[in-house]
Amino acid sequence: MHAALKNELQRQRQGIELIPSENFVSAAVVEALGTTLTNKYSEGYPKKRHYGGNHFIDEIELLAIERAKKLFVVPHANVQPYSGSPANMAVYFAVCNHGDTVLGLNLPDGGHLTHGWKVNFSGVFFKSIPYHVKADGYINIEEVRKLALEYKPKLIWCGASAYMREFPFEELSKIADEIGAYLAADIAHIAGLVIGNVHKSPVPFAHIVTTTTHKTLRGPRGAMIMVTQKGLDKDPQLAEKVDRAVFPGLQGGPHDHQTAAIAVALAEAMKPEFTDYAQQIVKNAKALAEALMKNDIKLISNGTDNHMLLIDLTPYGKGKGVFIQEALDLAHITLNKNTIPADPSSPFYPSGVRLGTPAITSRGLKEKEMQIIADWLAKIINEIAPRYSLPEDKTKLQYLDNFRKEIAENQIIKQVAEEVLSFMKNYPLYDGIEY
Ligand SMILES: *Cc1c(COP(=O)(O)O)cnc(C)c1O
Repeated sequence: MHAALKNELQRQRQGIELIPSENFVSAAVVEALGTTLTNKYSEGYPKKRHYGGNHFIDEIELLAIERAKKLFVVPHANVQPYSGSPANMAVYFAVCNHGDTVLGLNLPDGGHLTHGWKVNFSGVFFKSIPYHVKADGYINIEEVRKLALEYKPKLIWCGASAYMREFPFEELSKIADEIGAYLAADIAHIAGLVIGNVHKSPVPFAHIVTTTTHKTLRGPRGAMIMVTQKGLDKDPQLAEKVDRAVFPGLQGGPHDHQTAAIAVALAEAMKPEFTDYAQQIVKNAKALAEALMKNDIKLISNGTDNHMLLIDLTPYGKGKGVFIQEALDLAHITLNKNTIPADPSSPFYPSGVRLGTPAITSRGLKEKEMQIIADWLAKIINEIAPRYSLPEDKTKLQYLDNFRKEIAENQIIKQVAEEVLSFMKNYPLYDGIEY
């Protein structure tokens, strides 16, 4: 265990982290997570607990709630969901019955599993209707309206795990209002951008807002569910319904060490420096997009409004994502294979890679450095993507084994790996933390 902890810290320090759902929390957040609060049971809510000894836990949870309400300007916040998926599950449990119809962005088009994907609980227990993005990467609002009028969903989701444009909260809220549906905005990816005013807030438009706390918000793994004034106007019981859905509906005791760390992260997000950080995330993403396109790398939607980019690898063939992810991993550059809209391959062997700037912006990288990273990415994509293709018979895993043996000896990858290691020495991380 000691060796693995040490190695993982070193991996985080020395590499270029481009996974857009990841970030580097502050040392204060790490410290809060590592406290003895993990020992406590506190089922229930502040001042209404099922166990004794919760006086200080109440103070901690109330701090987190008050900070969330102030930061996002909402009348109600629940900070207990263990993570983003359980938070979304609680939304279904609060406003839907088993078998109700729901509308969400299709997973291969960038939507999240919990927005109705067929193998997720949300697609199994509910009648889920997917909407899509257009060829230009923007949500197809006309299709959403058509599907909403036809199927009359009880709940419409707005949010994504791979979407490069600003969400059309206002347009979707009009559609939801037209048919009397709840609109839930899942801002897991963009919560930090909303705080930094570089993405429109969903609060005036949605009834419910869910978010993870560990992506651009730069807190611990965790999530929050917020009820807006618009939500309370539609349903005065909505806040109680959400709270009851989380506990006792879905969860037992909250993770109090996580709640404390959320409170710490929210305090950090209230500082003016956080706004600067959020703005720099978007500046970096735009600079990275420009630099990649100058290198003839194709991007879905030809750019980005937020923190995220999706590289379309289909000019080299289909299903190339896995090769690029693994080759870059060897060069200490981390990103993930991802489906692209209307992917010609499959979710396990998708035709794109997804990347983003929240984590490298936390490391202190700016626009100038995006050019350097884009050149490394282009070098490896041009080296690897034309050379390797999925065998027609995908059970032939031998092919991937051979690929791995070959890239371990690839001189271009080795050279980039060395350059990355020496480059990242300029950006210290977690000074003072040693395992
Ligand atoms: C990451 C994400 C989630 C879920 O988060 P987990 O903490 O991994 O369960 C939910 N919705 C969206 C849009 C996400 O991107």
